Amino acid sequence: MSGVSRLQYTTETRLIRVMCSGRVDLEFVLRAFSNGMDGVFIGGCRLNECNYITHGNYDALNMVLLCRRIMEHIGLNPERLRIEFMTSAEGILFAEVMSEFGNEIRELGPLGTAEGIEPDELKAKLAEVAKLVPYIKRVKNEKLASRLENPEDYDALFTRDEIDRLFSEVISYYIAPEKCQACMICARRCPVEAITGGKNQIHVIEQEICIKCGTCLEACPTRFGAVMEIAGEPVPPPIPEEERMLVRKDKEKG
Ligand code: SF4
Ligand code: SF4
Repeated sequence: MSGVSRLQYTTETRLIRVMCSGRVDLEFVLRAFSNGMDGVFIGGCRLNECNYITHGNYDALNMVLLCRRIMEHIGLNPERLRIEFMTSAEGILFAEVMSEFGNEIRELGPLGTAEGIEPDELKAKLAEVAKLVPYIKRVKNEKLASRLENPEDYDALFTRDEIDRLFSEVISYYIAPEKCQACMICARRCPVEAITGGKNQIHVIEQEICIKCGTCLEACPTRFGAVMEIAGEPVPPPIPEEERMLVRKDKEKG
């Protein structure tokens, strides 16, 4: 509506259209910051006015509340991320909000530099969080599905302590070599090919590649139960390659 009405707003804005604000993933926001954006604004339909049953604008709101806390955790000013709800007919409001946000971001200054974070350090921090997005979404899935009716509750959805714990108690996944039966199910299901192994080979998770999505834990048949969650302690070193050939007990006897 702003464009059709020839309304003026901050020229630094780059618009990315999505069919629903709920489509804006935590990963997209982190990527925008990683690509040098100084601020990210998400415009969604008014809450409780969704045309569908999905109410994706609540999802977007929860994601923003979570991301703002994560930004605080890594030393970024959370005001660089904002969400507002409005209808497509509210062009004047959109133009006003965008100009206001643009001015705020300009005053804050460049991302990272203004917060005293070196560019390389900032890239590394954002990359580390981006790698953990599947884990974060899985651990916080209940809260990310909340429907907060009262804006006064927004601040309390994710607390600073909770986010500090989220990062200090990151869960790692490990395949217990004595339990793995080399069925290869986990390796086929891993979305990032972090599991090495093959036929009759005890499988191993490459911790550097693993994005901690938990898929392998769910995929490993319960009768084997070879995938373990590890929190608060180091992951055992991988079994040496020369010891990965699986010796089945029945064959051993024969
Ligand atoms: S948790 Fe398992 S399935 Fe997920 S990335 Fe790591 S090794 Fe792959
Ligand atoms: S699914 Fe379980 S038993 Fe099968 S290869 Fe993976 S860890 Fe081993």
